[in-house]
Amino acid sequence: MSSQHIMNTYGRLPVTFERGEGCYLFDTTGQAYLDALSGIAVCSLGHAHPAIQQALTEQAGKLVHTSNLYQIPKQNELSDKLCELAGMENVFFSNSGAEANECAIKIARLYGHNNEIKEPVIIVTEGSFHGRTLATLSATGNRKIQAGFEPLVQGFARVPFNDIDAIKNVAKNNKNVVAILIEPIQGEGGVNVPADDYLKQIRQLCDEHNWLMMLDEIQTGMNRTGQWFAHQHNNIKPDVMTLAKALANGVPIGACLANGKAATTLQPGNHGSTFGGNPLACAAALATIAMMQTQEITKKAHSSGEYLINHLRSMLAEVPGIVNIRGKGLMIGIELERDCTELVAKALDKNLLINVTAQNTIRLLPPLIISRAEMDLLSDKLSAIIKEFLAK
Ligand SMILES: *Cc1c(COP(=O)(O)O)cnc(C)c1O
Repeated sequence: MSSQHIMNTYGRLPVTFERGEGCYLFDTTGQAYLDALSGIAVCSLGHAHPAIQQALTEQAGKLVHTSNLYQIPKQNELSDKLCELAGMENVFFSNSGAEANECAIKIARLYGHNNEIKEPVIIVTEGSFHGRTLATLSATGNRKIQAGFEPLVQGFARVPFNDIDAIKNVAKNNKNVVAILIEPIQGEGGVNVPADDYLKQIRQLCDEHNWLMMLDEIQTGMNRTGQWFAHQHNNIKPDVMTLAKALANGVPIGACLANGKAATTLQPGNHGSTFGGNPLACAAALATIAMMQTQEITKKAHSSGEYLINHLRSMLAEVPGIVNIRGKGLMIGIELERDCTELVAKALDKNLLINVTAQNTIRLLPPLIISRAEMDLLSDKLSAIIKEFLAK
């Protein structure tokens, strides 16, 4: 099933998917699986969406790549669209989330140097995940991801998540801070939802101290939480925002959006990418956004999220061993009292695709197009699996 010529970096499950349709994936024997993970918050419109397929084939028949040495109309169109949705000024396109965060980190550092701060520091949080490149793994708040790759990239100050006083403390003691980089809801860290006013208070601190507020919305963005971008729940605007995952429904693309003083920091020659924002990826992203708009996915993610979380809460009420069920929109975590990594394989046996983060939290990131019937099926299957596991 696997090749010894693939570098051994992933723990893969023993299943091979051949095709997909909506919220279902089909393996090589034709068995159907209900996908409650969407390729980790990527295929929000479901698998093999006809509009994405059409955009890809049309664009592939014209042009796949030209490089950023020339004008790319689809890139211009996509940047206009994203800036309109986010109320921000401009965009740099990359090929992945980690690369989008690299762009944000470079903006913050250059912004510091432009303001006579020679050793700029970016505040990051415990339990965060920002990617696997050297700078982004250094920003990540998980020792397992960093171990063995020292020396880490310097210039990050770490605070606990959801703790405003800790940020104020850093502000008092560290005059080199230039920015804060944070996920509105921590994804890999265990679907950690901060207090309602956390982002607003961070915005105020950033304004007070002239720091850039940089939001990693790679997982929370593109309607996952029931808003185009999770920070829109809080009526604030960041200076920098990174996107990737669901941006083109599975075609690799990342974006770093900037506003105000962050939008004019990078100048010609400061940053670049060969593939970034190529016609094919931009065509897929434009089709994704258009489809999300016509299908009113923002509203749908919001109402489906409420339905699913309430349904799960009522089905799992009174079950001992469940710490809580939390989330926003269709980004949902079910925390158990004990480690439950084995549930991923158990769910696979029952033809259900889920994920476990932070060892003890089941993470659900279903396609945003998921129907009521599919949510009911998901809840039935999952609560049976959880009850059986916790009864042991
Ligand atoms: C997935 C993720 C990343 C990394 O994205 P890649 O495309 O894997 O590089 C960064 N930040 C967050 C919050 C993510 O969920």
